[in-house]
Amino acid sequence: MGYYSFLHLREFFNVCVVPLIETRYNSALISWSIVMDACQPIYGHKDLRPLPSRPTDQALQGLLHGNRPGLPPTTIDETDCQLSMAEPSSPDISVAENHNQTQTTDMDFDASHLIEVRESPSKGLGVFAKANIPCGTRVIAEPALLEVSGRDANMNSNANDILQAYESLLPSQQKLYLSLHGFACTLYKEKVERDMRQDWLQLTELHRTVLSIYVANTFGAVFLLGSRINHSCVPNLDFSYNSALGKETFHAIRDISAGEELTISYINGSNRTRSQRRTELDKWGFQCTCEACEDTVRGREREEKRVQLFDLDQMLALDIRIGTKASCRMALQIVQRLAAIQKSEGLLGRELGLSYHDAARYCLKLGNARMALLWAQKELEVDRYCVGEDHPDFEIELDIVHRLRAAVEGSAPVDEVVTRWFRLHDWPITM
Ligand SMILES: [Zn+2]
Repeated sequence: MGYYSFLHLREFFNVCVVPLIETRYNSALISWSIVMDACQPIYGHKDLRPLPSRPTDQALQGLLHGNRPGLPPTTIDETDCQLSMAEPSSPDISVAENHNQTQTTDMDFDASHLIEVRESPSKGLGVFAKANIPCGTRVIAEPALLEVSGRDANMNSNANDILQAYESLLPSQQKLYLSLHGFACTLYKEKVERDMRQDWLQLTELHRTVLSIYVANTFGAVFLLGSRINHSCVPNLDFSYNSALGKETFHAIRDISAGEELTISYINGSNRTRSQRRTELDKWGFQCTCEACEDTVRGREREEKRVQLFDLDQMLALDIRIGTKASCRMALQIVQRLAAIQKSEGLLGRELGLSYHDAARYCLKLGNARMALLWAQKELEVDRYCVGEDHPDFEIELDIVHRLRAAVEGSAPVDEVVTRWFRLHDWPITM
């Protein structure tokens, strides 16, 4: 459904990097054996220990309540865990659509005057806030500098097409393009060699440079400013292609202070352990030093939360597959726990919205439209600050919230539009 633009990154891995590990972000249902098979040849890291084929009740309860052996109970914001525990007698379903007006985005405006490109310690250039930037601000909205055969072509683009696209740029654009940082990993060079039927070292220096810049900077296309933004495993921006604007947009997903570096996640899916993230980031040729990757007490605490996220994510993939009412109730608990940890860890981008989306789906599968509405409103709020109200996804989600509200108020049944949006037909409940 064209839902998350970080899936663009995934397409890259599917072709020029060995597929990593399946998560629920993958739209296809997966079998547990595929997950296990996918893990085995790729990771040699000790902290990627495959989960048991079916978690024990004790293990699951430990994860759901944050009590892992030898570790103190987690102290997280449980706000997002509470909805299913006690359904409010009269939920205020009008609130979420109207509050946070200060976070909404002026559609004709980006705040690129509030940022600057300058040296980032040990990272080369980076993008920094010159002033305080509130959550929800559209920091950048820019068209592609270099795009290959439409956005779907993405990182899988044929090297010949990339070079052709470069040749078609104006000289001034080529100069800007060549000012970007380039890096090509071995796997990408091998892909280029297959495309060009030529050894990497036999290519001209210009062609190697153009292709290295492309692969190091593209997320659907290469952008002059957006491609300057460095990675963090706890990013403060989320990016998305807005087809209504024909631009890539970068939104602040929390308040950003003056002087702070702006960051995005280069990785598809934040529910990953440190070594899994490192393996992926190797493709960009750097080691992340963000707060989630630092070897400090706090860094290790954060890592423990990522391990929990990974475990919960994998359990969720398994439970979706089962498709019974009991598994649905369990999946709802799991996804609420996921959302709570994501929120407490500052993972506030569209993946949090996806957790809310899943929670709404499970509530609908369990026949509870009222709870589904509350979760759908939470997803809407995430997208309000992540992509803005002019994004096609936001408009769809707003329509879904209206339809769910009509169902809750009894003026209409849960209709086919809602059913399709939450893909309720995909996993029929068997009992
Ligand atoms: Zn990191």
